[in-house]
Amino acid sequence: MEHPKSHKPDLRDLRPQQVQDILTSLGEKPFRARQVLRWLYKNAAPDFETMSDLAKPLRQRLSQVARLTAMAPAQVEDAADGTSKLLYVLDDGARIESVLIPEADHHTLCVSSQVGCRQGCAFCRTATLGFTRNLRPAEITGQVLAARRLVDEARPLTNLVFMGMGEPLDNMASLLISLEHILGESGLQMSQRRVTVSTVGLADHLADFGRATPAALAVSLNAANEGLRSKLMPINRRFSLATLKAALLAYPLKPTRRITLEYVLLGGVNDRPAHAVELARWCRGLKCKVNLIPFNPHEGADFVAPAEADVQVFQEVLISEHITALLRRSRGADISAACGQLAARAALDDWDEEDGD
Ligand code: SAH
Repeated sequence: MEHPKSHKPDLRDLRPQQVQDILTSLGEKPFRARQVLRWLYKNAAPDFETMSDLAKPLRQRLSQVARLTAMAPAQVEDAADGTSKLLYVLDDGARIESVLIPEADHHTLCVSSQVGCRQGCAFCRTATLGFTRNLRPAEITGQVLAARRLVDEARPLTNLVFMGMGEPLDNMASLLISLEHILGESGLQMSQRRVTVSTVGLADHLADFGRATPAALAVSLNAANEGLRSKLMPINRRFSLATLKAALLAYPLKPTRRITLEYVLLGGVNDRPAHAVELARWCRGLKCKVNLIPFNPHEGADFVAPAEADVQVFQEVLISEHITALLRRSRGADISAACGQLAARAALDDWDEEDGD
């Protein structure tokens, strides 16, 4: 599809330094770049006209050399527990979702990194979509900017988890630029500890990721034996548990931090006490903690949720093995907004109808 403006860079696809270079090339002083960057991130300007403290000729020059994509949700769906699912229709018609989760004194946003996903995990609904494309940095950061507008001061958006649609480390270039927007001095300046990137464990990218960004790392383990993990997560056939562990032991982790391991409990599949013992053994030597996530059922998968009692035993086994293990209940299941339920599809079918053509 030909996009008439596509030759002009979207300023929010660029690194802050590149935005500064553009302004320098237009003959502007460094403080102008800071002003523009504030408009791009803290103020989430939808267009150049909004940048009211820039002289009109400069705004015009900017719109001749660059463009801006303003992300606004096409639909917001609210769950009974206060969770909202935000649906976006992108420039090319592709659809993605983010999930905004209210907590006592803040909000957490679950961010998507790709349209669909190519990891093919057996229990994940996004996997059933296949892969369409990577998100641009502007489309990743844009989800955060849009969500900031939806929250109030009493509960600001302070926490991000890259656990929406897609595999973030399969879209490293965009991910790292977006993290610069989110964490950086000239961006949103969010706290590194509160921004977590979750991966299936692309072992060949872990070291590069760890060196490039201070964001927190979570790895979806889901099984600690090779045969079972290969069945659940095709990536394990490329990077075995042994390879993954070696990569995590070598990960450039800051002294006070730990790696989070996510473990989706699938009823009768990976939730036996013996699996917990295996997991505890696998964790040995790693600075880690385990987040247990009971499986959220959906049409696309033949798994069932674990029994309440089994979840408890699993957690107790880990704790008795001296592993920090927290139980994570995902929210928003009634609107398919819980972990592993994102498909950006069903909801929009209704929306299309309402919209007529
Ligand atoms: N690709 C990344 C991020 C997206 S998935 C990753 O795999 O980490 C985010 C988390 O949701 C992962 O831990 C995944 O194992 C989990 N998940 C996927 N489907 C789920 C489901 N149906 N119920 C509960 N958790 C699920």
